[in-house]
Amino acid sequence: MMDKCALCGQIKELKLSHIIPKFVFDYIKRTGAIQNTRFRRPLDNPNIPYQDGDKQELLCGECEELFCAKEKLFAEQVFIPFQNNAIVKNLQYGPWLHYFITSVNWRNLYLDILDFERNGGIRPHALDALRDAEKKMREYLICRTENIAGIENHIFFADAIKKADSKITELGPHMFIRRSAFGYSYMCYNPDAYYVYSNLAGVIIATIIKKHPQEVWSNTRVKPNGGIITIPQSVKSPLIGELFDFMRDSQESTISDSQQQKLVERLKKDPQRLINSEFYKCFMLDAELKKRYIINPD
Ligand SMILES: [Zn+2]
Repeated sequence: MMDKCALCGQIKELKLSHIIPKFVFDYIKRTGAIQNTRFRRPLDNPNIPYQDGDKQELLCGECEELFCAKEKLFAEQVFIPFQNNAIVKNLQYGPWLHYFITSVNWRNLYLDILDFERNGGIRPHALDALRDAEKKMREYLICRTENIAGIENHIFFADAIKKADSKITELGPHMFIRRSAFGYSYMCYNPDAYYVYSNLAGVIIATIIKKHPQEVWSNTRVKPNGGIITIPQSVKSPLIGELFDFMRDSQESTISDSQQQKLVERLKKDPQRLINSEFYKCFMLDAELKKRYIINPD
């Protein structure tokens, strides 16, 4: 299809690009006993599962190439070590990490702005701020600028959760966060704060467009020129509340009884595959979290 590339703006043949990088979905599918985790953009039809993630004709071949090299570095140096529980205590990163986070969240932001323009659901001044951020991120991604003024990128590793309140514990946060991938823009008002974030099977990457006056991000900031991330991290932000709201909403419309029956039958046929799976590990982490809550309910 010949159309305008969302990044460089030239009329070219557009490729079908993944919004969340393909290696994330490949990982979830490869390591899961169950492969029907729902992957969707929240504004789309919730009844359509995306087995391979959302794909859109968005970028020309050259722009797609720009993103590719950084995706590979992220997969090799961050994503795979994290999933193998080998995340280094001090993550040293180059400028590629800031570029990668921007590229994923820009894709989500770009598509969300189109949705907001068509369907509303946003206050006009917030839409203006999102458009301004999208433009600045685009300029940076096509290498016209070396930095994005006024915008912060963060990375947060949703590792084994030690403690959470009963509502969150009930939802099974490990299973949800570590076995899913999604991304979207989030706005809260009075005081205003705007974000785009993506969950890549437990690696949460966030772009803060407008900061809430009370939020705190500790050891999570990713700088444009490279740096080092030290563990432990902590985050206090409306965005974390939103993540748990999204988790609750997603699980309310979760898999149907007949689908569940099919899963149970599949598991009976091949129980060893289940026990060896990452899916099972997350299930056990959630069970541990529940047990801790029952013993010590505050
Ligand atoms: Zn292009």
